[in-house]
Order: sequence, then structure tokens, then C-alpha cells
Amino acid sequence: MKKTRILAIIAIVLAILTGYLATIVFDLYTIRFDMRGQREVIREYGEPYEDPEVKAYAHPMLMPFLRKEIYVDRFFHVDVNKMGEQEVEYHAKTAKREGKATRKVIVEDHTPPEITLVADPDYYTLPGHEYVEEGFSAFDRLDGDVSDKVESRIENDKVIYTVTDAHGNTGTTEREIVYDDRKGPVISFDDGDYVKCMVNSTYNDKYKAVDDLDGDVTDKVKVEGKVDTGTLGVYTLKYTVSDSYGNETTAEKKVEVITNQGVIYLTFDDGPSAYTSRLLDVLDKYKNVKVTFFVIGVVPSAYGNIKRAFNAGHAIGVHSLTHDYSKIYSSDQAFWDDFEAMENIIVQQTGQRTKLFRFPGGSSNTVSWNYNTGIMTRLAQQSKDKGLVYFDWNVESGDAGRTTDTNEVYRNIINGVQYYKTSVVLCHDSKSYTVDAIEDVIIWGLNNGYTFQALNENSFTAHHGINN
Ligand code: ZN
Repeated sequence: MKKTRILAIIAIVLAILTGYLATIVFDLYTIRFDMRGQREVIREYGEPYEDPEVKAYAHPMLMPFLRKEIYVDRFFHVDVNKMGEQEVEYHAKTAKREGKATRKVIVEDHTPPEITLVADPDYYTLPGHEYVEEGFSAFDRLDGDVSDKVESRIENDKVIYTVTDAHGNTGTTEREIVYDDRKGPVISFDDGDYVKCMVNSTYNDKYKAVDDLDGDVTDKVKVEGKVDTGTLGVYTLKYTVSDSYGNETTAEKKVEVITNQGVIYLTFDDGPSAYTSRLLDVLDKYKNVKVTFFVIGVVPSAYGNIKRAFNAGHAIGVHSLTHDYSKIYSSDQAFWDDFEAMENIIVQQTGQRTKLFRFPGGSSNTVSWNYNTGIMTRLAQQSKDKGLVYFDWNVESGDAGRTTDTNEVYRNIINGVQYYKTSVVLCHDSKSYTVDAIEDVIIWGLNNGYTFQALNENSFTAHHGINN
């Protein structure tokens, strides 16, 4: 019995050895793959792909439990930028046998196109108005530019954009519509922002204000400033208007009151006198005729005429209190003391100082040589420093000594003013025969298109030039 057992064991060992030898000699293996991951993999277009681990084993057919790992050759061809099915092949071999496995990789596109909106932060839509598209573009990774396929619709104050690519992926985005009004009305002038207006005419201010939301708001415009067409000069009008959103607009227009004929500045020195009220009576008849008085203080009983002339719109300037050359041109101080005394009388009459004055004898006088060398040069500079403006004249009525005849005074004036576009005429309301000539001068001037204006600090000064 023992022998039988031993023989049996020997037989088994032999069989094993034979099997092993046969496996080696005849390459009796089965090749099996052990694959991680799925056999069929779906990848998104463009997304990186890494192939999972794959192992292969050679299993002896006669003794399958004695497997051994063998080398796997991989044919790796997955291109994630290529749509559709691709195959990865795995090869493994023993001496005589070869095993093969595959994995399917399917590249698909599930990414919708991207819509980019043009969105200016300053863009807005007027309330009650239709939204005007600001612009957009759409790009798909596969289809490229698909802007022309974008569809939009408006829902609840939003614009909703959609676009679908060739693989059925739909992209969508939306924008909030900003309803607002940030622009004020536009003010416009039919006649431009610099208007010339004939003196003594009526100026009809023409303007219009239109708002993009409210429409015509002309009746809400506030105008500041006034044009006095009776007085030459440049006037500024300021316009302000707001829309219902509180956007304010301002605009400015300048209106220049001009004359196509000459301007005559009649100036009367050495008053007020006993004749001044007569002159003022004449002037009162001509509403738009204004003149200038360079006053002195020698007839206190006539001072009231300074007030009357001022209230009638005529200009008042200082001439002198005493008109005494020997006194006023003796020193700078003496001149200004006399000047201040006259200025005080003017303030008493009119309630305000004047900046206008005329030197007794004019700025070109040589009489001052007798009293003080260089005084006119100094006084002219000092007057400038004080903010005063002095006037001379370019037309003489002749009433300072050449004539005492009313007709001659009239002729001197009308002959003289025809030489100049702007005349400053020297007259004296201390002379009765001059006062008598003035109405005819006015009638002739108005009939010939002249304007009679009062001087102001910006008027033509007719300076002669200083001789001392
Ligand atoms: Zn004088």
C-alpha cells in the first residue's frame, strides 16, 4: 500500500513537471487584460485625456493560477480636438502568442457658444422708448463666429440672447436694460448766440428748448438779463432749463446793440447853470437821446439839475468844483481835494460816485505849465490808479470862445460829427446860445441815423495826448 502511494505522488510530480515543461516549450498561455476605466469613454472636445492604467497577464493554460504580468504596448491615438470615435489599442505578447484589447474614446461637444455683449456703462434707454441694441458677438469653439445666429428678445426689462451651435448646444445670456435720462434739454437760438441788434429797435428774443424725453420745453426756459436797445453795448442773456429728470442746461447769448450810423456823445461842461433845466426840458422830449454832464460846483442853486439829469438817464462826470486853474493845478493834492469836493456833491445828488471825469481845459491843456510842471502826466496816471476814466473830445461846438451864435454852434457840431463814426462833442450848458442849438442838433442827428448816447467807462475817450 505504501508503494502505491509513493508511486501516485511521483506520478503527480511528473505530471506537474511535464505540464510546466509543455507550457514553456509550447507557449501554452492565455493573455488577459486588466483594464482600469471603462471600455467606452466619452470625452468633451478639447478637454485633456489621459488613458487609464492597463495591465496584461499571461495565464498558463494548464495552471491558470500561475499568472505573470507582461508588458503592454499601447497604441495611443486620442486627439481631443477631433470629434467622434477613436480607438486605443493595447497589445501584449508572450513568445508566440499575442493578445489585443481596445478602448473606445468618443469626443463629443457639449459646450455652448459664448455670447459677448457690448455694454457701455454710459448707455441708457429713455423711459418709454424702445431699447436700441448696443451690439454683441457669439463665438463657438467648433463653429467659430456664430454672431449671425444669435436671437434676442425682450422680457421684463431684460434682453435675452440665445444662440445654438451645430451640435445643438444653446448658449444664453441676458442684459438688464437701463432706463434713464441723463441729458438736459438742448437750447437753440434761431438767430445764433451772438446777435447784433439795431439801436432803438425792439429785440425779439428767439430760443427753443427741446428735451429728448420731454419734448418741447421752451416754455420752461428761464431767461436772465435784459437787452436795453436804447443804449449801445453788449448784453448777455442767460438761459436755464431743466427736464423732468432734473437735468439742467444753460446757454448764453450775447446781444450787441449797434448803430449803422455814427454815435454822438454830446458832453456839457461847466454846468449846472441857470440854463441847464432848459436843456433838460429839451432832452426830455427825446426818449432815446442821452448826454453827459461834466459838472462843476459854482452855482449851488442849480445842483438839483445834477439829480434831475441823472434820473433822466444821462451820465454825470466830475469836471471840477472850482474850475480855478491856478488852484487845481497847483499840486496833485489840490487837484484831488477839489475833485473829491465835487464828487461829494454828485453823491449828494445821485446817491453814487461817478468814475467819469474831464480835466478842466482837457488833458492836453498847457495852462497847467504855469502852476506845476508835469502835473497832467501825474494826474492822468493817478486817475487810472483810482479806477477813474477821463474824457477829452474830438468835436468842438465852438462855444468856448470862438462863437456866441446859436446857428454857428449848430453848424460846428453837425459839420464836426460827420467826420467821425464816434464823436465826443464839447459843449457848455453854461452857455445859453449853446443850449438853444441842441434841439436842432438832435433833430438833424436822428434824421440822419445818428445815435445820441451817454458816456460810460467803456466808451471812446477821445484822448488828446498830454502836453504837461
Ligand atoms: Zn470847463
